[in-house]
Amino acid sequence: MKKRLITLLVITPLLLSSQLSASTSIASEQGTPCGIYKNSKNEVIAGVKFPKGNYQIYTYGMPCNKVLGKKGVLATFLKQKDQDPLPKPWKYQSDTVGAQGFSASGIGFRVKLIQKTQLSSTATKALQSINARLKNATNSNLKIDLAIAKDSNKLFVELLPTTIMENAQFWSNFYDPKVVLPAAIALPGDSDWLNEQFAKHSYSLPRWRYDQIKNQNNTQMMIFDADENPTTNSVLYFVIGKDNSQQPAWAKSTISHEYVHVIQIGLTGARNGRIPCWSTEGSAVFYGNALSASKLGNPEVEYAELRKNWLAMLNLKKALSGKSETELLDLLRKSESDFRVCAEPLYFGYSAGSLMTEILISEHGHEKFVQWWINSRNNDWRKEFAALFGMEVDSFYMNIAIPYILKDAQNL
Ligand SMILES: [Zn+2]
Repeated sequence: MKKRLITLLVITPLLLSSQLSASTSIASEQGTPCGIYKNSKNEVIAGVKFPKGNYQIYTYGMPCNKVLGKKGVLATFLKQKDQDPLPKPWKYQSDTVGAQGFSASGIGFRVKLIQKTQLSSTATKALQSINARLKNATNSNLKIDLAIAKDSNKLFVELLPTTIMENAQFWSNFYDPKVVLPAAIALPGDSDWLNEQFAKHSYSLPRWRYDQIKNQNNTQMMIFDADENPTTNSVLYFVIGKDNSQQPAWAKSTISHEYVHVIQIGLTGARNGRIPCWSTEGSAVFYGNALSASKLGNPEVEYAELRKNWLAMLNLKKALSGKSETELLDLLRKSESDFRVCAEPLYFGYSAGSLMTEILISEHGHEKFVQWWINSRNNDWRKEFAALFGMEVDSFYMNIAIPYILKDAQNL
């Protein structure tokens, strides 16, 4: 099976005018990952045993929601008697590409038992801090003015409104805007359409971004961003091809990622510059994954999978390769404000930054972490970091962040 290249573009420091993109393959030999299915007891489908456990579900030629869910194919199979044959034209396929599965005239899905979650106690604790807040997060006054271009990507149309509302509730104790949030789902090339939609909110795309979307020929490329806008604080847009099929958990994580930038603009007053770039982007990756995972049936497994996929996609291992701890310290310092280190081509602010956010939240909690942003609105973030976390940022880099990043990278 041909590997599908997925181009990611969630990455938009305001000062950088060059095109940012990161390519990787999320889809594997098994197909497109759809998320985790928890098999709570030993099952038999058409005489084949499926032991109790967590299964990663992959599809090919068919969308995830036709397989998973109450009316999905998998549920239908599980409802059958153990020895009943599969409904026609479905066939069982034994493990030939690292996962067994079922096929029907060129389409199908595969299931792969996940042996264990491999989430460290630090990562688990950070995830729990997010879950604790989510349990109490039920209210938000947020109003979205959502514009959807004709023939937009169905998965994003389906997921965006609910995901944004879930995020708005999660963040509402820190930021719950009284102004409407303009948001849009558009297709590659839709620069003029986006500007028309945003005109009533007095926003227009910066010239470089206008051109980038206008000339977006590669339908696999995605351009997602949140930008500052004086009358509404932020605007939010997702430019993605109609047929660009993505894993729902991953799509939710990118929507949540961009909403973190809305929060940062709301709390610090700026898209960039008030807090270090590793926190702007790294925290967006962390919260994107943690919030997306926490809303699914099996948060720890989902989080471990999303985290692994993101760190692989951002090439953390390659960024670390052959570097001494002194060189890494230098990189972390540079990632504060140098977009070539924070974002493309190294993406160190995203990858390392997500782990730095994770360990800070694990040790100090979500509330204190966000308080640091709030305190940095009118003050130097370095001073506020030292005051809140009880150490200078350099000492955090050397004694906590670098050892944590290096240890984690061993398991990638
Ligand atoms: Zn971002």
